Amino acid sequence: MAVKNVFHVNAEGFNAYDILLERSFASLPDEMKKLNVADRRICVVTDSNVSKLYSQEVQELLRPICREVSEYVIPAGEENKNLDEIKKIYVHLIEHEFDRGDMLVALGGGVTGDMTGYAAATYLRGISFVQVPTTLLAQVDSSNGGKTGVDFDSYKNMVGAFHQPSMVYINISTLKTLADDQFACGMGEVLKHGLIRDAAYYEWCIENMSEIADRDEQVLKEMVFRSVAIKGPVVQRDPKEKGERALLNFGHTLGHAIEKMKNFELGHGQCVALGCVAAAYISMKRGYLDSDEFYEIRDMMVGFDLPISFDSLSSEEIIACTRHDKKMKAGQIRFILLKSIGHAFIDTSVTDAEMLEALNTLNADVFERSGE
Ligand code: NAD
Repeated sequence: MAVKNVFHVNAEGFNAYDILLERSFASLPDEMKKLNVADRRICVVTDSNVSKLYSQEVQELLRPICREVSEYVIPAGEENKNLDEIKKIYVHLIEHEFDRGDMLVALGGGVTGDMTGYAAATYLRGISFVQVPTTLLAQVDSSNGGKTGVDFDSYKNMVGAFHQPSMVYINISTLKTLADDQFACGMGEVLKHGLIRDAAYYEWCIENMSEIADRDEQVLKEMVFRSVAIKGPVVQRDPKEKGERALLNFGHTLGHAIEKMKNFELGHGQCVALGCVAAAYISMKRGYLDSDEFYEIRDMMVGFDLPISFDSLSSEEIIACTRHDKKMKAGQIRFILLKSIGHAFIDTSVTDAEMLEALNTLNADVFERSGE
């Protein structure tokens, strides 16, 4: 399959934007010029790890094409995705006299993208921003779709806004410096895309497991493109998650609860992977998947270095935690199940007993294996 460079998202009620797939930052200035940046101030918001790797290069490329470039560095890590850190971004913008015509560039992973997007959505009632995602998770998922926000009192993404970026510029080569566990986190979202929408993509991921693990750039480019091509049209049709977009939350009801209970020790993608396996188990128990399909999904997570069990957590407490999930509607959890591989649907009838059995089975399997 030829890998295209541009993907166009035109979400209803929002401005259209391009998602570009590149192998360097070289085209960034030309693409930014199309957003009429000549008279605008730009703040590159990045985190303390990504700043050292890529911020200098990005700032130097942007400086000649706009009015002024500054940098704001967030301390890296999900524990800093909160309103206190957002407040510091506002202070930087006020001190640098940012007005409504100016712009933010989110350079980093999903945490940087979500926070920069939220700051952009709320500063002066909204300024524009560009996503330059540098983790696999952010490239395949979080940079696209306009969900921005922060955690609040350790409740995941509890405060936020829908605010679409003006452009998403993906430089695949940044994945070379990404730690293995962070790469695996991104694979959690990739596999989710295949499972909910595209059985052929799911099979392709399994067939290309070793090339993906070796981070073969051509294969990664195709993978990012295919994930973006799954998420983009869904966001375009349902930008504010009134229906279909909820399918992208496959694995998230239990995944978010585990993430919170683990106090963010496990990455978002790792928790999503656990949630996907639990949801696949419930789908099997309901008769939608056969057991071979369930075990293939579970084993594939292992192949991509993702966890399939969680220790030191009580299944009952995880379920109690799902009650705070944003995906609830009128007190009911909107659980995403698989009718078959590649076909997800929303189900509001999943019971606590079904979730409990799924969670207990994940851990029981580990128990059996360690006793072997
Ligand atoms: P992250 O942003 O914390 O990045 C993970 C780590 O990788 C950080 O330490 C970061 O400094 C480092 N890093 C980033 N790019 C790097 C690079 N190229 N080389 C080396 N190190 C690099 O985490 P993430 O997994 O990217 O994102 C997770 C967040 O995304 C969660 O907060 C989750 O809620 C959010 N999310 C949002 C959406 C959405 O639609 N908005 C979707 C999925 C996830």
